[in-house]
Amino acid sequence: MTFEDLKIIPPLLKALEEKNYKEPTAIQQKAIPVVLNQRDILGSAQTGTGKTAAFALPIIQLLHNSGSKEKGRVSIKSLIVTPTRELAIQIDENIAFYAKHTKLKHAVIFGGVKQGSQVNELNRGVDILVATPGRLLDLIYQGYIKLDQIKIFVLDEADRMLDMGFINDIKKLLKLLPTRRQSLFFSATMPDSIVELSSKILTDPVKIEV
Ligand code: AMP
Repeated sequence: MTFEDLKIIPPLLKALEEKNYKEPTAIQQKAIPVVLNQRDILGSAQTGTGKTAAFALPIIQLLHNSGSKEKGRVSIKSLIVTPTRELAIQIDENIAFYAKHTKLKHAVIFGGVKQGSQVNELNRGVDILVATPGRLLDLIYQGYIKLDQIKIFVLDEADRMLDMGFINDIKKLLKLLPTRRQSLFFSATMPDSIVELSSKILTDPVKIEV
């Protein structure tokens, strides 16, 4: 199995070649076609399995192919929420690499630092935003982030999110997201609390385990 077999488009294949990825990992083989078909996913996968590319590649591809006609400042079309600053930075770095031969714009926001440079970046326009929950809600409430154009929402490491006490932030966020959207939900473990949360987010999801 190759990335070509998964119908990955040339600008992404070029980046993957530069990254020296020879073949898709198990989760990539399962998840990429599902995301490209615009279905929701309930995925149980740990970090280290290639999970990031499993959602990032098809998201970049869908947004690239939708060929935005927006003039001037673009709006956020995909929001990826992850529990920690380290994960957020890692995901954004991956997106930067995979999207390097597209025109898509990405940014990362997280707490614990001044918001000024993050706000400046948001003001330049962002297609794909990676965020931790607290700073995300802060900037939404201050009016720096509009959610109405979001087509694809990712909740990453949902079990860690709950362990870290972010459940109320996630519930607040869900109320603000457009209801017509594609959602991808990943968790290393699937206790009842996570399954219940996933049912509030997903519509007829494809279940993927690796
Ligand atoms: P992740 O689970 O997304 O944190 O990825 C774990 C590591 O695997 C990262 O260092 C990725 O760059 C790498 N990786 C992801 N997909 C592939 C692939 N298809 N081939 C080789 N390495 C990969």
